Amino acid sequence: MIQKVLVKADYLLKWGEELEVISQGELVIEEGFVSYSGPTLQRNNENFTRIIKGENKLVMPGFINTHTHAAMSLFRGYADDMPLQEWLEKRIWPVEAKLKKKDIYWGTLLAICEMIRGGTTCFADMYFHMEEAAKACLESGIRASLSQGLVGMDALQGIASLEEGKKIVRNWHGKGDGRITAMLGPHAPYTCPPDYLRKVAEVADSLQVPIHIHLAETRREVEESVQKYGKRPVELMEQIGLLDRKVLAAHCVHLTQEEIQTMAQKKTAIAHNPGSNLKLGSGLAPLADFLKNGVLVSLGTDSAASNNNLDMLEEVRLAALLSKGLLEDPTLIPAVEALKLATFNGAKALFLEEKVGTLNEGSRADLIMFKLNSSHLHPLHGIPAQLVYAALSSDVEMVMVNGNILLENGDLKTLDEERILFETGKISSRLVNY
Ligand SMILES: [Zn+2]
Repeated sequence: MIQKVLVKADYLLKWGEELEVISQGELVIEEGFVSYSGPTLQRNNENFTRIIKGENKLVMPGFINTHTHAAMSLFRGYADDMPLQEWLEKRIWPVEAKLKKKDIYWGTLLAICEMIRGGTTCFADMYFHMEEAAKACLESGIRASLSQGLVGMDALQGIASLEEGKKIVRNWHGKGDGRITAMLGPHAPYTCPPDYLRKVAEVADSLQVPIHIHLAETRREVEESVQKYGKRPVELMEQIGLLDRKVLAAHCVHLTQEEIQTMAQKKTAIAHNPGSNLKLGSGLAPLADFLKNGVLVSLGTDSAASNNNLDMLEEVRLAALLSKGLLEDPTLIPAVEALKLATFNGAKALFLEEKVGTLNEGSRADLIMFKLNSSHLHPLHGIPAQLVYAALSSDVEMVMVNGNILLENGDLKTLDEERILFETGKISSRLVNY
């Protein structure tokens, strides 16, 4: 039998040229695709498998988190208030050395529980043992773009990790009815020397997948790049030819005006991670400048070890508020723009062939439903401003990916959360002993 679901809501948000806010809207979902998206219609004798009524509810495209390291949720709260390099060298790398393959599976599931609960329907992940992360994504029903983190500091290590990266692409790209896609993930210019990045770019060409990399995250990274190569990280990437490919660059905190223009010309996508950049004291990325210059910007949380949550609504709010405060201009990054970064732009930044992030007809049914009848959302004058400035991620009541319900009435439908908390509790106490 064909699955045909009707989802109604007091407000339906979708992306055409602009954001459309439809009051008393509805969606028809057939076999995972949106077949109708618009105002409520008079429907007679239509056979729906299910009707979701949506009174006092708002439906919109799910959030797309374009930069995280999901399994690092195992290290949440373990290393705080430290500079990035010290955080990595003294805290994170030593515990990562103790990780077993299966830990990645459970750690990723922990992250997915949190992401689904907060309305994230798709995420871009970079870590290692990504086979295990892929299994977690497949089972959970979430959409994900996965990349094995590649490090090429010595030749042997570089070749081995590139082989792993290729394996993820070959084994997982397109799996789960297209929910799982893959990228190549050279970690950063400071862990992947130029010759190695050239090799990665060639492999990306032959496998026809995009590249996911950390770029210009800290001032120190930029200074060291200038010392070592005589070029800033973005200049170096341009010289290598990396930016001629499809690239998702995380952070981009320290960019010159010229480099911002390069990112726009090369159509490089940026994953802006305001929460992580603030907490690690890395600085504030020039978001308003990015947008003014036509750079494609999306939003990410980075990992729960540096954030310390995977709450996309929080990133949306930070993205909107930071530029206003910093540049003393409340008109910068209006609510609608902030919401666009987390949905429409997220899908573009992941170079997805599947249509997601809009809720237009013909797109995949990746959607979330907010409940509206709460004191902190009442009265409801402005949408989407209320969503951006007042809503909480815990207001997300229903989550659907590819037409399948992953969260409803507070219950995760595809995951055994109690077991996941138990297993990850055991793992984190084994990894971290003070
Ligand atoms: Zn990162």
